[in-house]
Amino acid sequence: MKSVSLQKLVTVLILMSGMTHATNEKPPNILFIFTDDHALNAISAYEGPLAKIAPTPHLDRIAREGMLFKHCLVSNSICAPSRAVVLTGKYSHLNGQLTNKDMFDGSQQTVSKLLKKAGYQTAIVGKWHLKSTPTGFDHFEVLKGQGQYYNPLLFTNGKNVKHTGYTTDIITDQSLKWLETRNADKPFFLMTQHKAPHGRWEPALRHLEVFEDMEIPEPPTLFDNYDGRTTAPAQHKMGIADHMGPHRLMFQYSSKFTPEQFKIFDGHFRPLNDAFEKLNLQGKARTRWNYQRYIKNYLRCVKAVDENVGRLLEYLDDNGLANNTVVIYSSDQGFWLGEHGWFDKRWMYEESLHTPLIVRWPGQIQPDTTNTDLVSNLDFAQTFLDIAGARQPGDMQGLALTPLLRGKTPANWRKTHYYHYYEAGGHGVPVHYGVTDGRHKLIRFPDDTLDAWEFFDLKKDPNEMQSRYGDPQYTRTIAALKEELNRLRKQYQVENFENP
Ligand code: CA
Repeated sequence: MKSVSLQKLVTVLILMSGMTHATNEKPPNILFIFTDDHALNAISAYEGPLAKIAPTPHLDRIAREGMLFKHCLVSNSICAPSRAVVLTGKYSHLNGQLTNKDMFDGSQQTVSKLLKKAGYQTAIVGKWHLKSTPTGFDHFEVLKGQGQYYNPLLFTNGKNVKHTGYTTDIITDQSLKWLETRNADKPFFLMTQHKAPHGRWEPALRHLEVFEDMEIPEPPTLFDNYDGRTTAPAQHKMGIADHMGPHRLMFQYSSKFTPEQFKIFDGHFRPLNDAFEKLNLQGKARTRWNYQRYIKNYLRCVKAVDENVGRLLEYLDDNGLANNTVVIYSSDQGFWLGEHGWFDKRWMYEESLHTPLIVRWPGQIQPDTTNTDLVSNLDFAQTFLDIAGARQPGDMQGLALTPLLRGKTPANWRKTHYYHYYEAGGHGVPVHYGVTDGRHKLIRFPDDTLDAWEFFDLKKDPNEMQSRYGDPQYTRTIAALKEELNRLRKQYQVENFENP
């Protein structure tokens, strides 16, 4: 009798401990580190031409311990629209954020609201750029508009708070402060969103001298003359040669410095600027100088991002959070680092279409893996929800990346990606849309003045120098891509959308 009841008691205890374990098992935390305008070529894990010159050890660590996506393609390569896609899981024409000029409708369904409903504590620190007040966050602490690199004003839960220091560091400081004071009983969803490396590229004081004595290699297309394509790319206003202006080249500064900061910052640039002016460089020599000035400051801004990613990873390590936190690093789009003679983004061409995506999820992702499937910022919202074990609403248009993260890409995974840029005339870039299957790319410029197509064979022409639209050898491929473009426009409900 006694032994039976003891056995029963033991069974009950085992069951109870199992239950306790089950109820205690929190869904993973999600740390989403999001930068602005970070090109793949400026992350050494992507092994681009600058990888050896400008290593990013902390970002590389996420890749080494997780998965690096080679083909994360944005749906609309520009800041605010990309952010709206991340929050809603919907293309721009459905979330209403077509251009940087629109104001985000915060009353709509967003992933932050859904995660909150699923029991997450939600916070956003840093760049917001959507004009309306953030919704769906237990805590928000965001830059006004573009923000500045030094001494930022952070709109903190409805109040303006002034900070002194370098913004990339401060966004991390404030993220860490929030992590310290959060409700540890709940899983967290933290969006740490940097202004960097968005222009105008003002480096941290500690990085002013980095790269100074080096000659950074130029991209082979720095002096592109835009032959071989429609007239669209030649109409750009994002040229390293002609469009950078005094602020982007550090002849004038954008931040409001403290006197101490100014002394060091100006003390670095002014003598270099004076020496440059004496040289009176013209033509290609001037473009080359502009490129060096631009790329060095850009990479310095990236260096501060990388260091601050390291600080966040270290915090997770030191606080026993690393194993149950999914770390996701991405940017709102890619960027031109002098390829085709450009800075900026917007085009459906490769460097601005691609955005970095690196994910660490201990126990789920096989470390040091690379994924080559076509994924998108359209997928982020559903990925967050699936990680959280929350339902994905039927009106979101992406796909959760969770099976890919676990190394099992479904057989019916997307084979093509739809792109649509709406901000007509911004930096001289017209409205355009298109489709790519990763090997080929078809772009439509619908404006009456252009009314043109471009087609590229990315395997034979990875730099997209020669449109093969109209080339008989591609007639069938182009026809098939046009059909696919129509299918996608129907699927994403864009075919009847009239751009207001
Ligand atoms: Ca951006």
